[in-house]
Amino acid sequence: MQSLTILNNKLGQGRVRMGVILAPYTTFKLGGPAEYYFEAETDEDIANAVKAAHELNLSLTILGGVSNVVISTDGIKGLVLRNRVVYKEIIEENEEEQLLRVSSGYSMTLLAKETGNEGLSGLEYHVGLPGTVGGAIYMNSKWYSDPRGARIAVYAGDALGEAKIVDKTGHDRIVDRDYFEFAYDHSKLQETSEILLWATFRLKKVDPELTQKRFRESLEYRHETQPMGIPSSGCFFRNVDGQSVGKIIDEAGLKGYKIGGASVSEIHANFIVNDGTATAEDVQKLLDHIKTVVREKRGIELKEEVVMI
Ligand SMILES: Cc1cc2nc3c(=O)[nH]c(=O)nc-3n(C[C@H](O)[C@H](O)[C@H](O)COP(=O)(O)OP(=O)(O)OC[C@H]3O[C@@H](n4cnc5c(N)ncnc54)[C@H](O)[C@@H]3O)c2cc1C
Repeated sequence: MQSLTILNNKLGQGRVRMGVILAPYTTFKLGGPAEYYFEAETDEDIANAVKAAHELNLSLTILGGVSNVVISTDGIKGLVLRNRVVYKEIIEENEEEQLLRVSSGYSMTLLAKETGNEGLSGLEYHVGLPGTVGGAIYMNSKWYSDPRGARIAVYAGDALGEAKIVDKTGHDRIVDRDYFEFAYDHSKLQETSEILLWATFRLKKVDPELTQKRFRESLEYRHETQPMGIPSSGCFFRNVDGQSVGKIIDEAGLKGYKIGGASVSEIHANFIVNDGTATAEDVQKLLDHIKTVVREKRGIELKEEVVMI
């Protein structure tokens, strides 16, 4: 209780609440309460929350669009920060390109759409990606420039220029793209637990017809191949040596396999969907089952892409 008083003194009276159920904020529609819950509206809010959690020795969890996590039924201990920091500004512009600074809480789909509509190329393939800039950089989320053909991956980190990050103790600094060591499903933030405050993206000026065509094609393909509008957390497992895990799980005969309220999607076998009654325990049991079957049938060890909290 004393921590709640101190948190409210530091972050604003009434802005920190205890026991807020997180399920409604997640795309998977499951998960228990946050011990302490705070919505950040500015970069300063985030920095203050990091410092407060450090001083009180509380663990800090930052959530963006909550589209790539499974939150346990017991919820999350410590301070849970939901990132609602939304701004963007042009930093530099010439005839060929625009450098844009964007807050980490900005919706990735909105950003892709807004920039693509203006004929700014670099993010247009990410239209339809749920979640925020912060989550997309943390995960180095990806899509394909030619989903029906060569399936060349385009990553959220590809167009990044520099970024401001803050460490667990509250110290912030500006780092360049190399710092992130971007790779498939990987960025340095996964090792350091640093938080992204903003990022700049260097976007090329092209004919808006081109960017709009690209995001129409991306969306069309998403609608055909992903269970849209059904609670899920996206792809659960990382691809294995370039092989599609969806195909591996499908070939193992697991499409539609159900435990409790969680099942392997009939549309995309790397998606687990929630019929509205699933618990994190159902999901964990289903993940264990998929891993066991794939190991036995194919000798392949699957690794989670989704973050289990
Ligand atoms: C229907 C559907 C489709 C999807 N399609 C794709 C796809 O095409 N490609 C793909 O790669 N993924 C896809 N995903 C997964 C997910 O949407 C992406 O990984 C997304 O970028 C996660 O962003 P988020 O803001 O929701 O992150 P969250 O789920 O909120 O968080 C994910 C992780 O990032 C950390 N994090 C969040 N914000 C920050 C920050 N500011 N600083 C540091 N760490 C932070 C969190 O602590 C957590 O560990 C899909 C998911 C769904 C439900």
